[in-house]
Amino acid sequence: MGHSAVIIGAGIGGLSTARALKRHGWSVTVLEQAAALPTSGTMLGMWPAAMKALADIGIDAPSRTDGWAHIAASARTRLWTPAGRTLLTAPGGADVNLVSRPALLAALARDIDITFNTQVIDPGQLDDAELVVGADGTFSRTRQRMFGDRFHARSLGAVAWRGTVKGAVAGYGETWAPGALFGITPAGPDATNWYACIRASQTFEGPHLVHIVDQFGYWHRGVRELIDRIEENTVLHHGLFEAPKLRRFITGNTVLVGDAAHAMAPFLGRGACEAIVDGATLGRSMAQATSVKAGLALFDHERRARTRRLVLASHLMGQFAMMDTGSGIRNAAVGTVGRLVKPRPRRDPTLPRR
Ligand SMILES: Cc1cc2nc3c(=O)[nH]c(=O)nc-3n(C[C@H](O)[C@H](O)[C@H](O)COP(=O)(O)OP(=O)(O)OC[C@H]3O[C@@H](n4cnc5c(N)ncnc54)[C@H](O)[C@@H]3O)c2cc1C
Repeated sequence: MGHSAVIIGAGIGGLSTARALKRHGWSVTVLEQAAALPTSGTMLGMWPAAMKALADIGIDAPSRTDGWAHIAASARTRLWTPAGRTLLTAPGGADVNLVSRPALLAALARDIDITFNTQVIDPGQLDDAELVVGADGTFSRTRQRMFGDRFHARSLGAVAWRGTVKGAVAGYGETWAPGALFGITPAGPDATNWYACIRASQTFEGPHLVHIVDQFGYWHRGVRELIDRIEENTVLHHGLFEAPKLRRFITGNTVLVGDAAHAMAPFLGRGACEAIVDGATLGRSMAQATSVKAGLALFDHERRARTRRLVLASHLMGQFAMMDTGSGIRNAAVGTVGRLVKPRPRRDPTLPRR
């Protein structure tokens, strides 16, 4: 008889896991509390490890068309102060792929049966299943059932607004201010992605454009011109949280993946990428191991320390980008790095030295 798993949550982590297990011969049941997959959402940056994991679970180049965008390595991204002074101009380094959340979810969901409108109130009731995958996000009930109420998601004391506007812009990059940042990235040939964060202990009531103008409307022209193009009904707003440190991602036959295991601050753009890598790794671990227990131990070994480092790195990146005290020194240091790495025009050897 084949293996079977119950997956709680049809987000990026749950669906990546479903695909990976299915490819290795498992039958999967995916339970999702929402009525359908979301049809709107912003762009997610996909790092090379995530692109490889996507290929491993059958989302290869030909299926990556609608909703995908690509920034060539030659593209430069900038770091500004709110007054518009450029602190750093960085070459892209490697090509970056971007995908809209709905397009990614639709691709991952292809050929996967999802049982919608089904909220798992008590994950303990699934203990009879051969394998239970808690892919239920930042506020995971599965995590709390495994480790207790103390292991709830922690607020980062910051909130984000984000969205997409029509058309391209002249420059991409981030603007850093004490306690706030504003980011602009491409979102395809004729769209631009933006995100904005401030330190705040609570989320704001809508409408949101007024808060965005209030916080960022006096920043440099690039930010102001982008804000002018934001449509109120496209703005997403939420608080930022991270997962607590876990001693393991597994208990018995239950395993956590994605944000349930390692929700991280968004400042390195890695959460969705790591959820995909989790799914591909869990499928491979199960295929390699001789028992579910051994497969889960292998997954925990491969993923826990690595993702913990990313939770910490993402946290530090947010602290650095939005630091209050010492931001002047930080800007001076970043500016110096920018000047050091800036390519210098080469001297024409045929001209006499001055
Ligand atoms: C501002 C911001 C920008 C980001 N940018 C990037 C980026 O550029 N690149 C990147 O890689 N990542 C990015 N991320 C992170 C990324 O969005 C998340 O890490 C990723 O969506 C996590 O996927 P998940 O499947 O683990 O969780 P989720 O997306 O939260 O999915 C969990 C699913 O489980 C369902 N569920 C929850 N509880 C239950 C229950 N009891 N029963 C049934 N169903 C349940 C939910 O409805 C949901 O569908 C960003 C995050 C933020 C906040």
